Amino acid sequence: MSQDTVRQSHGPHHASPPEAVVRRMDVDPRSGLSSAEARARRDLHGPNALPASARRSAFERFLLQFHDILIYVLLAAGAITAVLGHWIDSGVIFGVVVINAIIGFVQEGKAERALDAIRDMLSPRAQVLRDGHRREVPAEELVPGDIVFLASGDKVPADLRLVEVRSLRVEEAALTGESVPVDKAPDPVGRDVPLGDRASMAYSGTLVAYGQATGVVVATGAKTEIGRISEMLGKVEELTTPLLRQLAAFGRTLTWVILGVAAFAFAFGTLVRDYSAGEMFLAAVGLAVAAIPEGLPAIMTITLAIGVQRMAARNAIIRRLPSVEALGSVTVICSDKTGTLTRNEMTVQRVACADRQYVVTGSGYIPHGGFEERLDEGSRAIEPAGALLDSARAAMLCNDAHVRREGEDWTLAGDPTEGALLVMAMKAGLDGGFEREALPRTDVIPFESEHRFMATLHHDHEGHGRIYLKGAPERVLELCARARSEAGDGELDIAYWHARMHEIAADGMRLLAVAVREDADAMRELCFADVEGGGFTLLALFGLSDPPREEAVEAVARCRAAGIRVKMITGDHAATARAIGVRLGLDERVQAITGADLEKMDDAALAQAAADNEVFARASPEHKLRLVTALQSRGEVVAMTGDGVNDAPALKRAEVGVAMGNKGTEAAKEAAEVVLADDNFASIAAAVEEGRTVYDNLRKAIAFILPTNLGQGGIVLCAVLLGITMPITPAQILWVNMITAVTLALALAFEQPERDIMRRPPRAADASLLDRFVLWRIFFVGVLLVAGGMGFFLWEIDRGQSLELARTAAVNAVLVGEAFYLFNMRSFRESVFSREGLTGNRYVWLAIGLMALAQLAFTYAPFMHALFGSAALDAATWLRVLAFGVVVLIVVELEKLVVRLRADPKSNA
Ligand code: ATP
Repeated sequence: MSQDTVRQSHGPHHASPPEAVVRRMDVDPRSGLSSAEARARRDLHGPNALPASARRSAFERFLLQFHDILIYVLLAAGAITAVLGHWIDSGVIFGVVVINAIIGFVQEGKAERALDAIRDMLSPRAQVLRDGHRREVPAEELVPGDIVFLASGDKVPADLRLVEVRSLRVEEAALTGESVPVDKAPDPVGRDVPLGDRASMAYSGTLVAYGQATGVVVATGAKTEIGRISEMLGKVEELTTPLLRQLAAFGRTLTWVILGVAAFAFAFGTLVRDYSAGEMFLAAVGLAVAAIPEGLPAIMTITLAIGVQRMAARNAIIRRLPSVEALGSVTVICSDKTGTLTRNEMTVQRVACADRQYVVTGSGYIPHGGFEERLDEGSRAIEPAGALLDSARAAMLCNDAHVRREGEDWTLAGDPTEGALLVMAMKAGLDGGFEREALPRTDVIPFESEHRFMATLHHDHEGHGRIYLKGAPERVLELCARARSEAGDGELDIAYWHARMHEIAADGMRLLAVAVREDADAMRELCFADVEGGGFTLLALFGLSDPPREEAVEAVARCRAAGIRVKMITGDHAATARAIGVRLGLDERVQAITGADLEKMDDAALAQAAADNEVFARASPEHKLRLVTALQSRGEVVAMTGDGVNDAPALKRAEVGVAMGNKGTEAAKEAAEVVLADDNFASIAAAVEEGRTVYDNLRKAIAFILPTNLGQGGIVLCAVLLGITMPITPAQILWVNMITAVTLALALAFEQPERDIMRRPPRAADASLLDRFVLWRIFFVGVLLVAGGMGFFLWEIDRGQSLELARTAAVNAVLVGEAFYLFNMRSFRESVFSREGLTGNRYVWLAIGLMALAQLAFTYAPFMHALFGSAALDAATWLRVLAFGVVVLIVVELEKLVVRLRADPKSNA
């Protein structure tokens, strides 16, 4: 039965009671669909994915390659050349334009596929009930009838009829444009209410802002509301970034300049030098085609795409291309602690009760280990009872994690903090199934970083109710009036508990407290007021260890060397945060600033504090936003990590928002520019390194390509000014440009990070790709190439050689000069006279090999002679040409030496 017939025969899902919809979808809400049934339904309905957005057709993309003012100029030149009857020149111009377009088309296609593959790594997942078990599946595998769980931060994976709801609020901007989250409830609503008011439904593509819910899938894929209203969701992102747009604008300006110079040359040649108009027109065309860098845009795109691929290989997945550039100029990284800087492998190691303290043995999620009581001298093993056992029970029941045994391994589903508590309770001898059966949960307030606690309401079978509270100790302590000890419940000794907290936190452990209130028989629902009314009895304080990641310690050091400050922002206790901060190698002198401290500051004080300190504790997502803003007000370029739904504003605000791929919510990923596949701080540092490399390689490609254009343009202009025959024809010029772009320059896109890339200070965010140094280098090498090309031409003519031979020598001189210059450009400033410098990038050798083959064909193949008017060279000429290349290599290395000496007179390496 198709979904449409279902709708028609029973009325819309939103207007029917949930039980009716569940029945209609033919599923048992307690066990979900069976795997076999899910497979069958999937075959029927297809995957839960929107049809890929209508891409531009291949032909259209090919045509777009010609849509560039530089190319228009070339096409016009080709057409006029044809009208003048110079068929070969005109054919070559068109030929090169087409070849360039093909290459651009192929490379762009590759780049797009690479990015698509990376985007696929981000496909969302869904929590679903199948075969009676809760499990996580790719959202694409959902079928109508699946029972799906939603929690705060999730992206709703399909259209759901809500069955059970706990304070659910959903942000439906994707669907209705309304960005204020709306409340949801399972009760049916009127048949004809508009989408935005159907509180009983959660629609695919919207985001859970708060709360939890269970729902049954009523529509998937293109049948969902979002699938209906927009056929082409997931807009194709353009392969460009602000810097590249800046460069494109530069290209347009350059074209006008080139046309101006060509017009000037035409006027000068015909009026002053007595060239014929036809001859001079060809020269002007030659000048224009020489100076236009046709290959540059394709090289830029491919460099960017390679950078993005490399980042993905290092676990940083780029969601928005401009962030590649921003990554390269980051000055501050604000990172979460838990899981990013630390391993997030929690183990409860200490328990403090009102009159006794315990050490828990064992590690990881294997529930093997026991309890030892700490005595003045040594410790002794004990069997948990009394307050200790009560606290273990509270920790087990006020908990949403599950650990499961799979062979020898124990795996955790859920939050590691809760997993650790669960395992601790198992070590205390409690059985999860039994406890949950004896004290079923009636209601829950889920944990949120904002309020830093979780509470659950339970009733036993006699109807006695109790609330368990678990959370950050300061929060829990505030709500407690008494504490439980072996002797029974007594007064709460605040000083005692604070001393225990400091002791445990100073060891770098995360703190959690559990409490109970036993007067809840009449309660059926749990709301904030019930918890915040207080009256709890404190059971125990837990210390959980979570050691720093080794890679993170290293990465922090690398960032600091690179002039990037690392700040740790955590929800943990100040003493815990400081202890971990010290182990990570953050600045030891400073104190941990707490969220409460931040709240007391005005904007100026906050900006100062944000700049001076590196550890921020007990911070909530709102503080993150204030910190980003404060740092930005001081001109910093900020990368900020986050995982929760409430982190989204800070992620959006930061120049580079970084979401966690594993523990991050869909809401955080959606707001972020970068997603870390492994949640690891080291991957951020790697992404920064690659970001710097991309920028470097873009500059290298520009500094490599443009001298060819300048050099050849210069040669033509010199010839016009001197009134001599053109040393190089338009067709030959195009040949040189093409060979440079498709072989040599491409090699630079694969260039690895330079050795000192993480020892340089961050680049200014507004720095131009074409800074003075790059412009100087282009000019300097351009002049060398003019000298080489002109020199060889004049020398051969002077020796009485044919025009064809002299031109062939000039062409080879320019290309060989570029080939040697390619080695120079492997580094802007460092010498390449080393093993690494000469052999470090095998693409350089590959490119040179290809170029050599092309040049041999150009020089010796008869059809090339016919096309390009080239001629065979003898060995002596080749030797001279190669010698010129070596001269270019050495002269540029000398220039680098001068630059290095001027930058740092002491270094002469
Ligand atoms: P990060 O360092 O990644 O910012 P965090 O995990 O340190 O995050 P939160 O998750 O906001 O910060 O946790 C803050 C405090 O809340 C913890 O120190 C702990 O005391 C308490 N807490 C953490 N998880 C839970 C939970 N599941 N239930 C109850 N309390 C929790």
